[in-house]
Amino acid sequence: MALFKLQNVEDFYEIGDVLGSGHYGQVCAVRERATGARWAGKFLKLRRSASSRLGLERKSVEKEVEILQALPHCNIMALKDVFESRAEVVLIVELIGGGELFDFVAEKENLSEGEAIEFMKQILEAVSFMHSKKIAHFDLKPENMMLLDKEVSHPHIKIIDFGLAHCFIQGKEYKSLSGTPQYIAPEVINYEPLSVASDMWSIGVITYILLSGMSPFQGDTDEETLRNIVSMNYEFEDRYFSDTSAVAKDFIQNLLVKDPSGRLTAEECLVHPWIKPLTRNDAASRNRSSINMKNFKKFNARRKWKMSYNMVWACNRLCRMQLLCKSDTQEDSDLRKCESDQEDTETKPASLIRRRLSSNS
Ligand code: AMP
Repeated sequence: MALFKLQNVEDFYEIGDVLGSGHYGQVCAVRERATGARWAGKFLKLRRSASSRLGLERKSVEKEVEILQALPHCNIMALKDVFESRAEVVLIVELIGGGELFDFVAEKENLSEGEAIEFMKQILEAVSFMHSKKIAHFDLKPENMMLLDKEVSHPHIKIIDFGLAHCFIQGKEYKSLSGTPQYIAPEVINYEPLSVASDMWSIGVITYILLSGMSPFQGDTDEETLRNIVSMNYEFEDRYFSDTSAVAKDFIQNLLVKDPSGRLTAEECLVHPWIKPLTRNDAASRNRSSINMKNFKKFNARRKWKMSYNMVWACNRLCRMQLLCKSDTQEDSDLRKCESDQEDTETKPASLIRRRLSSNS
């Protein structure tokens, strides 16, 4: 079990600017006092009582910490230290300063499939490593794919946010309804036993978006998106895929397979001819094919807009909750004031909307 230090994190790290917000707290830049080294601090609010809806159970923080510790890989965010106080746990993690992969891509004028594949390969290497340890991420999506530094010629991808990740134990079934509607696999929606193959479905969705700027199952509402997924309602529309190679479509088709056992594994993806061309001709065709930048930029702008809209919506909701809580005991109101949990507790189909507020479903 990971060591949760009981000392005050601020004795060891100077806390800097907020870098981002998650479901249960904020991520801030931090500076190690002893060495001057820069890290990121992920502040996670803890649930104080079993009856509280707010904050994370310590058990789930332990799970996230154990999983990060089990995954030393150059394309996965590294964990350095863990501090615990009465109200929160702080994970000291590698500082990832290059922003999100999709924002980086959206700034480009054009991108060949060959360049997109360089990113996909890194994602697949990380996922293949994870899966070799029997760990599934269960929330692979653009927001969780960041770049260590975007000012270099070959940016290095880092996968973040292992808050929903799970380590499978032989012979023990695992079911979960958590995830982000656009990227979630049909077996999650159907509440069936899960495996690492659910991540491969999400990789299919991410690749589809990266190449076309369209989201394969996106409906007008989350419910419609989930229905589209379960009924496998997607196609490669010519107007969005006119510059896409046939082998890229084959790659996606082999991931968007309803039966999890029929999907390519991460290892198989790494040797699929789209990722690893067999002939010079294949390689040349990837470089002639390009991603639909005009549409991708639109997709990304909409995604960012929805993320900020959801954040404002969540903040307003939090304020309302605080007002409602004014009549509660002092302890409860203190607890809620420091809470940034954006969990949506309204019952939606399969309660899949756990992550909706901070995602771009
Ligand atoms: P998370 O709760 O892990 O999803 O993180 C919330 C947000 O904080 C992310 O969407 C990123 O924008 C930012 N973030 C998370 N981890 C890091 C990191 N290690 N370095 C820099 N920013 C991060």
